[in-house]
Amino acid sequence: MIKKFTLGPLQNNCYLLVDDNSKSAALIDPPYGVEAISQYIELQKFDLQMILITHAHFDHIGGVNTLVQSSIKPIDVYFHPDDQRLWDAGGGAKEFGFYLELPVLTPKPALDQSIIYLGDYMIQVCHTPGHSPGHVVFYVPEEKSIFCGDLIFYHGVGRTDLPGGSAKTLIKSIEKYILSAPDDVHLYPGHGAATTVGEEKLNNPFLI
Ligand SMILES: [Zn+2]
Ligand SMILES: [Zn+2]
Repeated sequence: MIKKFTLGPLQNNCYLLVDDNSKSAALIDPPYGVEAISQYIELQKFDLQMILITHAHFDHIGGVNTLVQSSIKPIDVYFHPDDQRLWDAGGGAKEFGFYLELPVLTPKPALDQSIIYLGDYMIQVCHTPGHSPGHVVFYVPEEKSIFCGDLIFYHGVGRTDLPGGSAKTLIKSIEKYILSAPDDVHLYPGHGAATTVGEEKLNNPFLI
């Protein structure tokens, strides 16, 4: 099951992936205001096991500290090592005039082509630099879904003018891991509406 929340000053989409049998849950890109999701998880008696981070921009990690500090058991936090520097720099929050507190933790490396197991789900990690150096997307074949962070949006693509960004690399990443997926795969971006691979192949002005 996938549930979407839109929260925080930058209207971030945060996705909760729950394995129905075990009630094991993963939260993708927890933003500021994550308390609302914590309450929902508690109410539903889901077992939040991991936080999956597509990239370490502050708006996608704004809720990590709250989740990690309030949990009685350890939660695995995954992101790609190439975004460690961005994480250490507070995700660029200061530059945008935001305050961000991050917990001290050793992240689990979300490496290209690695697989993360959540209950019966297999989550495939795909390294997709361009928007940030360590950007990844999480592909869940069983749900025909890709959680794509700020790589690609409905009829748009991620900005590449921030430190470590590259327009050429971004397009390459989209070609490698998004356009190669079946047309009916859902794309769940970090901001805005969901879309599909087929829709973006046909109608995304940045990819034509
Ligand atoms: Zn971003
Ligand atoms: Zn973003």
